[in-house]
Order: sequence, then structure tokens, then C-alpha cells
Amino acid sequence: MKYYLGIDLGGTNIVAGVVDEDYRIIVKHREKTDAKKGFEEAVAEIARVGKKAVELSGIPLSDIEAVGLGTPSLINPNTQLLVNANNLGWRNVPLPAEMAKHFDMPIFIRNDADCAALGEALAGAAKEYDHALMVTLGTGVGGGIIMNKQIFNGGDQMGAEIGHTKLVFGGVQCTCGQYGCLESYASATGLIRETKEAIAEHPESLLAKKYGARLDDIDARTAFDAARQSDKTAIEVVDRYISYLAAGLSTLICLFRPQVIIIGGGVSNEGETLLKPLNEKLLPSTYAGTEIGVPKAIKASLGNDAGIIGAAMLAKQINI
Ligand SMILES: [Zn+2]
Repeated sequence: MKYYLGIDLGGTNIVAGVVDEDYRIIVKHREKTDAKKGFEEAVAEIARVGKKAVELSGIPLSDIEAVGLGTPSLINPNTQLLVNANNLGWRNVPLPAEMAKHFDMPIFIRNDADCAALGEALAGAAKEYDHALMVTLGTGVGGGIIMNKQIFNGGDQMGAEIGHTKLVFGGVQCTCGQYGCLESYASATGLIRETKEAIAEHPESLLAKKYGARLDDIDARTAFDAARQSDKTAIEVVDRYISYLAAGLSTLICLFRPQVIIIGGGVSNEGETLLKPLNEKLLPSTYAGTEIGVPKAIKASLGNDAGIIGAAMLAKQINI
């Protein structure tokens, strides 16, 4: 049996896992991220968390084949610099080179969304499929494209940026600075914005009566909860949100012809309240959907483990 170390670098946590070649997590170890630390110190911390996971697994470090890192950043394939990891406060840092000071084994780095997509494709909701699309609906919209069980890296090896595909020309400004990105509409942040706008426009709604005086308490669940209580305004907010998402996914279906769409992130916890109408909307809103069908959107099944398994298995990707 071969073993790999996968590390997921989040803004608040470092999670490291030892994963075997059958994609099973043997041991997982989590520690808080201290973003205030300097880069070299932070990498030493990451390495320490990774080595701790290996120690807990009882497998000698020398038996670990490779270490894979999922990071919330673009990685420049030419310079191997992490372009920008906002939540870690890093810009153009040589993460692989710095990690190499701590691990005497191959080191692989990819965007965390790609790692999660790979994890779901190998061991999770998409394991029965060769071609899958994963979209995570959280504070932002992330995602990855899997073709033949491989991460689609594109010609420049930078992977896909699903959240920043254009949905509305001249639309709402995105965190990336562009206007009208899918992320501006299909993220939890977008849903919260639309919920607040609906409250201002419909003071008679249940949504406004419950949350009008405490707008700061609104999260991505608020509109879904009120919709389940048959509030007309909330139903409209949720319906519009799902329509935006379906429109964004229909573009990706036309381009990549996935066999399945995996939905992850906090909003996916709405389950069928999200997925049933989403699947109903995908069919008529996708080119030739009613003639040839559309792939089904299903919920991610591994949660945060997807990122660990995907990162660990980067070593087994062909084009990396
Ligand atoms: Zn954007």
C-alpha cells in the first residue's frame, strides 16, 4: 500500500491527512492558522502540522510518497509562485520551494477548489464518473473541472476559475474587481445581498418582519428558511438565486459536457430545496437540454475531506 500526505490550507485552519492509494484517509490532524506569522514561519507551521499527521498515522515519514497542498490561490506554473492568497496575506510567495526545505519528497500544489473537485471525483459523489464539474457555493464560488479523472488545467496550467466566468455583462462588482461574475450572484454573499434588497423592497414580507431590524443576522440560509415557510418574497429570492446558478452552469455544461455536477459549499446544505429546482431549471436553460438531456446536479459527499484526498492524490495526476 502507498501513502500520501494531503494538506488543505484554509484561512482559519490547516488540515493535514495521510491518505492511502485507495483514497482512504488514515489520519487527519487540524490546527488553527495564524495568518499574522511571516511567510517562512507559516510554512514551517504547515510542515509541522503535516508531519504531526504522519506521526499520528504510525507510518514512517520515509514511507510517504509525496505531499500535496491545496491552497486558496492561483499558482503561476512558470514561477511556481502562489499569486495571491488573500486570506493568508500572501502575494507571489515561493510556497513549493519553501516546503521543500521541510519535506524530502515530491511536492505538488494546486488550487484548493481543484483539489476538492479531484477528491470528489476519485472518492466522493462523482466516483462513478470520468468527467465531472464541481462548484462550491460559499463566501465565493469555487470549483474545478475534471476530465478523465484528471484536473483540467488549461493551456497555461492555471486551471479553471468557475466563479469568475461572466454571468451578467456590466453586473454587480465581484471581489476580483470585475463586474457580473457568477460569484457575484451564485455565492452565499450574493444570496445575502439579494435577501437584503428584497427586504427593503417588501416590508410586508415574512422575511422583512423577521429580519428587517436585524440585517446583520442574515445569512445564506435566511431566504431558504423563509421560502420553506411559504413567504412569497423569499420564494422569489431563492428562485432568482437558483436561476442565476442554473444559467452559469448551463454555460459550463455546453463547454465541458460533464457527466455530473457536484455542488458543494455551505449553500449545498439546503439539499433538495436547492437541487430539485436547480435540476428542473438546468434542463430548459441549457442548449438542446430538452433533446439530449443535461447532467444531474448532486450534492458533494466528502465535505472538507475532499480537499485532503484531492491534495494527497495530486501526485498521481498525469499532467501536473
Ligand atoms: Zn470575479
